Amino acid sequence: MSDCVFCNIVSGQLPAQKVYEDDQLLAFPSIDPKAETHLLVIPKRHIENLNSLTAEDAGLMAHLLLTLPEIAAANGLPGFRTITNTGKEGGQEVFHMHFHILGGQTLPGFN
Ligand code: AMP
Repeated sequence: MSDCVFCNIVSGQLPAQKVYEDDQLLAFPSIDPKAETHLLVIPKRHIENLNSLTAEDAGLMAHLLLTLPEIAAANGLPGFRTITNTGKEGGQEVFHMHFHILGGQTLPGFN
């Protein structure tokens, strides 16, 4: 077992209901949903958060952003909110970069 919960999901050592998978990405529901639908999209490779990215990750990040709406649509979400928390000051609790997809209901305004 790794110290990283999401690496353990990628390796299959922890269970998750996969809603999307390709060679670079995995998506699964949050264990503690904050909306009717609450999915997490992660790179399979361990990257701590946005602060850890380098220019070499540009292709991965483009792929991730382009895939987010496909995952949302495949899960019945015509509109959705995407959040990524960066660092403990940003509310990050799991230090393996992930993008939250929230939807399935009309979400309150953010401002
Ligand atoms: P953050 O606060 O942005 O780091 O969000 C961490 C997210 O990971 C939250 O939505 C948690 O509910 C979720 N989470 C933590 N452990 C698991 C797990 N084993 N399976 C699925 N989601 C998890």
